[in-house]
Amino acid sequence: MAAASSPLASFTAPARLVYPAAGSRPAGVAQVVLVVSRPAMGEAQVLTWDGQFVREILHPSRRPTGTTRLRWDGTGPGGQPAPDGPYRVRLMLTDETGAVTSAELRVSKVSAPAYPPAPSSVIVFLDPGHGGPETGATGTLPDGTVVRESDLDLDIALRLAAMLRDAGIRVSMSRTADTAANRDGVDRNGDGRVDGTDEFLARMDAANNVRADLYVAIHNNWISAGKGRTEAFFCGRGCSGAAASEVLAADILQAHVARLAPLQPADWQLTLGDPLIPEAERNPTDDYLRFAQATLPAGRHFYVLGPYDAAFRPRPIQMPGALVESLSLSNPYELQLLAEPSVRTLLASAYYDGIAAFLADRPLGLRLDPAAPAPPARVGVGTDLRVRVTNNGKAPIPAGTRLTVGAVPFATPYDGSPSPGRQIGQATLAKAILPGHAATVTVPVRPASAGAQTWKVEALVGGVRTSTLRVPFLQVRVSVGR
Ligand SMILES: [Zn+2]
Repeated sequence: MAAASSPLASFTAPARLVYPAAGSRPAGVAQVVLVVSRPAMGEAQVLTWDGQFVREILHPSRRPTGTTRLRWDGTGPGGQPAPDGPYRVRLMLTDETGAVTSAELRVSKVSAPAYPPAPSSVIVFLDPGHGGPETGATGTLPDGTVVRESDLDLDIALRLAAMLRDAGIRVSMSRTADTAANRDGVDRNGDGRVDGTDEFLARMDAANNVRADLYVAIHNNWISAGKGRTEAFFCGRGCSGAAASEVLAADILQAHVARLAPLQPADWQLTLGDPLIPEAERNPTDDYLRFAQATLPAGRHFYVLGPYDAAFRPRPIQMPGALVESLSLSNPYELQLLAEPSVRTLLASAYYDGIAAFLADRPLGLRLDPAAPAPPARVGVGTDLRVRVTNNGKAPIPAGTRLTVGAVPFATPYDGSPSPGRQIGQATLAKAILPGHAATVTVPVRPASAGAQTWKVEALVGGVRTSTLRVPFLQVRVSVGR
């Protein structure tokens, strides 16, 4: 007789996010639904990301054919709140023959939902530092274990990605394993060499290609032997729309300070700012260029944040960006913290808090996506480009907002310059778009020249070009016939 199939018909999580009540908002609980096709013994537990037991949510018991609904309110075994972070729900089913089926789902516990009006309208790009041949900083624990920054950065990023995804946010990453970002060894800037500049560009290209709403580079620090520091960098000079990046860097840094405060021993403090910068000139967030001039030669890792430079950085990130150094491998206490999985979950929660705060407060949040494939085009003949405009900020995008289409010479993989191109079409929004909502706009376009070209779409909100406010251009590659 053939073995009976598993009684497990489905195991799903209609709600993956646990968060506390705030104001008029009720608390969120994780909801898990189990369906069995015939009776079986079932049990389910919540485990940490690292597999430690947190709480039973289904005591071992016979499940009748059909649906069992389970919930987790974010508490541990004694009913006390579990720490924020990503969790696993593990199911075990035992059928009448004794055969065991197991299945796992992920849920997360967080301080608050992230952009509740429409979380899936937001794309967060996470860039774990280093990877592959480049390990970043290293440190040695008292027991001789060598700790590599590249592993820590990735581990924190994966925990954070799980939390953001459970909140409904879309996440894109420069790497998800111990590899370089420029894995295929592509000469991305076309200078005839494959080097560190191409590695940075691989990360920037990945973010720009998905037109991410924000860019977060996750690192850990090396200061000098014994010293530790938590820092956040942004491009404060030479980058248009720097204010948004500064807010992002500050939000994530403040969240680090809040989350790490309970871990500070009496003789150790989180220090904000570069000590080489005179005290009077320091900000809560360091200006990236000032820091670079103070201590580092050109070409170092946070160059992913820098402004357009046709030769050196031909395709800079187009969205608000921050590079955060959570803790330092050069300080023995901070190194020991980093080696502790629960601290890496704490750091992921700090990033989550900062990102959620940024998304809750940003007045302008706007995505431009293609609503249809690029139309066939001929010189001097009108055609329609259909663009989906999504408001993922907190203020309405007003009626009368203009969408413009400009043409630049064909660029691959895309045009990284700040140029909006030669204008060949425009349209205006007939109605305001409210936060969390989207509209499809038809833009009449009349190509002025033939051949392969790239059309760049942006908006003018209150007369200001959104590319200068760090909203990525939508770029469409077209071949215009005669
Ligand atoms: Zn680093």
